[in-house]
Amino acid sequence: MRSFPDFLQKAQQSGVAIGHFNISDLVLVKAVFGAARELNVPVLVGLSEGEREFVGTRQIAAFVRSLREEFDFPIFLNADHTHSLAKGIEAAKAGFDSIVFDLSALPIEENVRQTKQAVEAMKAVNPSVLVEGEIGDIGTGSEIHESSPDLSKGLSTPEEAKQFVESTRVDILAPAVGNMHGMLRSMVGGETKKRLDIERIAGIKRAARAFLTLHGGSGTDDEDLRKAIAAGINIVHINTELRVAWRHGLEHGLAKQPDEVVPYKILPSVVDSVKQVVGSRLQLFNGRHVAHGT
Ligand SMILES: [Zn+2]
Repeated sequence: MRSFPDFLQKAQQSGVAIGHFNISDLVLVKAVFGAARELNVPVLVGLSEGEREFVGTRQIAAFVRSLREEFDFPIFLNADHTHSLAKGIEAAKAGFDSIVFDLSALPIEENVRQTKQAVEAMKAVNPSVLVEGEIGDIGTGSEIHESSPDLSKGLSTPEEAKQFVESTRVDILAPAVGNMHGMLRSMVGGETKKRLDIERIAGIKRAARAFLTLHGGSGTDDEDLRKAIAAGINIVHINTELRVAWRHGLEHGLAKQPDEVVPYKILPSVVDSVKQVVGSRLQLFNGRHVAHGT
């Protein structure tokens, strides 16, 4: 089995992106893994600090590793939005394939200084772990927001991106290019879409010469996502769309069997609902025709 950096390199050469899906229970893992296997594309499962707290850092690492080994399938694990070195070291020790070290809330000089130290410390634990750094402002909270934050002042520039990557030696960069964490209520129904600054992505890619991640991909215009990948995005994060599908699937599963108490008879509704979203996004990110049906 080749490693995560090999698959990332291959995706870059092929002009496709690897889908990253946040999970906070086994049902979500089943849905992500099932969709990726059906399409036979590599996939990245991610957990933020809060999600790791709930599932267990070492436990999810063992679980994902068992899937990768038993099915000989490229499913990898990312420690999403890690805000302290201690949590980063914990994930590196547990065997995560990549770590998002996010100090983007700090002034840029402090972000650079601490991210550089963290890259060295985490690679000392596991030299093959990939480290992602964050610059700019894309908001927080993968949930439904009532109003849109003003993120226009926090957009990343190619110069800043280049300097950040060179100074910190991160493998992957997450810039602010019009993307945003969470979704507005109007995005859940599809009436509005997030739009991306494609020129900015292309400029950052030319300047930084690193792998690029797009965070907050939920609710983004499909054509913008295609263009963003063509402009140099290598990983796309989807969380809120999965959470919405998780809730809808659960409500549906409970409503259609009001007297059922057996979890494995109720939860397949959730797996199906989430799997449809994951499958649609993986098709898009991998340059395939997207089947709309949801
Ligand atoms: Zn994110």
